[in-house]
Amino acid sequence: MSITIARSLDHALTTLHENPDALILAGGTDLMVQINRGYLNELSTVIAVNRIPELQGWKQQDDTLVLGAGLTYAEMEKSDFAAVAPALAQAARTVGSPQIRNAGTLGGNLGTASPAGDTLPVLAALDAVICLRSAQGARRLPILEFITGVKNNARQPGELIEEVHIPAAQGHQEFCKIGPRNAMVISVASLALIVDQQNKKVRLGLGTVGPVPLRPAEAEEHLSTNVNWAANTVSAATLDQFSTLAAAAARPIDDHRGTAAYRRHAIGVMARRTAARAFTEETA
Ligand SMILES: Cc1cc2nc3c(=O)[nH]c(=O)nc-3n(C[C@H](O)[C@H](O)[C@H](O)COP(=O)(O)OP(=O)(O)OC[C@H]3O[C@@H](n4cnc5c(N)ncnc54)[C@H](O)[C@@H]3O)c2cc1C
Repeated sequence: MSITIARSLDHALTTLHENPDALILAGGTDLMVQINRGYLNELSTVIAVNRIPELQGWKQQDDTLVLGAGLTYAEMEKSDFAAVAPALAQAARTVGSPQIRNAGTLGGNLGTASPAGDTLPVLAALDAVICLRSAQGARRLPILEFITGVKNNARQPGELIEEVHIPAAQGHQEFCKIGPRNAMVISVASLALIVDQQNKKVRLGLGTVGPVPLRPAEAEEHLSTNVNWAANTVSAATLDQFSTLAAAAARPIDDHRGTAAYRRHAIGVMARRTAARAFTEETA
């Protein structure tokens, strides 16, 4: 097996161009589990991307946050990041243990594309754009086109996830996750609510209740059109209907972590709670 520790983006892309099917290793928190369990037997070339300066950290360019694929959860938890991307920071705080958050990366969460990936509903609600790069050039895909199915994504051989672009926060943002305990838990259902104050829109991302992250358009439309944006208030009836529509949009399955019925119910509860925190509930 050959292992290349890439020191620059060019170095990684050249090596990847020569070995388009090479395995890309970032923090290794998903990949090493697969290797240790013997799921990946034919390993010929591995490219480690966790020392590439161009993939590290994040920066703000006007109203856009440019997040490197190598951005770790530990970095996303920090207060400077939380100030501009609060829902993503909240999601990062729920991931694994400190060790996992020190090593695990945003690019790795996207690469794995698990329905339970905690950043994915947030990225969906933020209309994130995934920037891919190969030796031939670059292309950008909206998150919902990038994630194509359970543990599947649109990355082609020879491509690296380079960056993720999201808008800088302008309104209330929140991430919620349900699991059997508070820490070190894989999501049973998750939800991100993003309030776009400028455009008077509410965007919702649902996680772990479908093969890919979901955007319940009807629920979003209902809340966005019925909020009193001037007073920042909402009626109880609107919240109830928002909750019902969000739950109806979920496409959950029964598995060893939870039933479909429980997951659907949980989405309705989280939708109502997050919206009631974003807007004051009107008293009759
Ligand atoms: C104990 C434990 C707890 C966990 N808890 C959670 C949790 O609570 N929530 C959660 O969402 N996840 C959790 N995970 C899963 C994992 O930590 C995350 O999915 C993490 O984001 C993976 O990132 P990584 O850098 O370690 O990726 P790696 O394991 O290095 O790679 C994962 C996949 O992404 C690909 N990849 C990585 N970087 C790139 C890139 N730049 N371009 C193209 N492809 C790339 C790899 O080839 C691989 O297919 C947990 C894992 C463990 C072991």
